[in-house]
Amino acid sequence: MVYDFRDTLKVYQAKKPIEVKLIEDAGIIEKGSSFFLTGAASGLSDRLCEIISDEIYCWTLDFRHVQPGDRFKVLYEAKYLDGEFVGVGEVKAAYFNHLGQDFYAYPFNDTGFDDYFDQDGGNLRKFFLKTPVKNSRISSRYSKNRFHPVQKRWKSHKGTDYAAPRGTPIWSTADGVVEAATYKKYNGNYVKVRHNGTYTTQYLHMSKIAKGIRVGTHVKQGQTIGYVGSTGLATGPHVCYRFWKNGNQVDPFKSKLPPSDPVSQASRPSFENLRDSLATRLDSIPYPEPIKLQKAL
Ligand SMILES: [Zn+2]
Repeated sequence: MVYDFRDTLKVYQAKKPIEVKLIEDAGIIEKGSSFFLTGAASGLSDRLCEIISDEIYCWTLDFRHVQPGDRFKVLYEAKYLDGEFVGVGEVKAAYFNHLGQDFYAYPFNDTGFDDYFDQDGGNLRKFFLKTPVKNSRISSRYSKNRFHPVQKRWKSHKGTDYAAPRGTPIWSTADGVVEAATYKKYNGNYVKVRHNGTYTTQYLHMSKIAKGIRVGTHVKQGQTIGYVGSTGLATGPHVCYRFWKNGNQVDPFKSKLPPSDPVSQASRPSFENLRDSLATRLDSIPYPEPIKLQKAL
């Protein structure tokens, strides 16, 4: 949108071409630093750091526990308007070394959308998201015995509670079909999703169920199915996340959960070609010289 103040005020829409450049960057995490600080010092935008930590490696690495000496490389598209950086496009390849272990990530389209795959063609995305809400805090874990804050008695809590502000979107943690989307006295507004013959998840106490979510609706991993609230038996806004394996309620943090599908046999040759050329490119990116910490005078 152009606001032209030169004569009489003119306002009009205009288009300018965006230039896309392929950029390579690398960094080494120093003592007392974090991935985000090191990324910023190496020229990575916040958004790019977020893609790397929250979208590519969120199932593989915990970025709160990176160690001095951990290192990374990334090959990505940067968008420019009149020579000025305006945003990140696709991440074409990434590499992270944590405690000496290599984690390569290559986007590859095998199932109709891009997932990131490792050196062996394994999928970096797990079948389940780690949490059903973003940036939330676990307020009560799955346990066989806890004091119920509303009912004032000891009973088992076969769910994990995530405290989050009212209205925060709740995601289905995996692809599946909605089995229930309704109101019950204790559950409040809730949604239950069947993922396959083995796994089912349930999300309680919603302020409201998302539009279009009803019995039989197909949902994708990460799709919003409702919003955090405190309907039913709840003291404050949270989502109670329940997890069934073969009909039994289990603690998802104590269960070994499946990965998503690897590269298919049919796509293997094209994946390996892509991987080999990207690996060569990643390996050739130099690391920056260690940053000399300035001594205080
Ligand atoms: Zn609960």
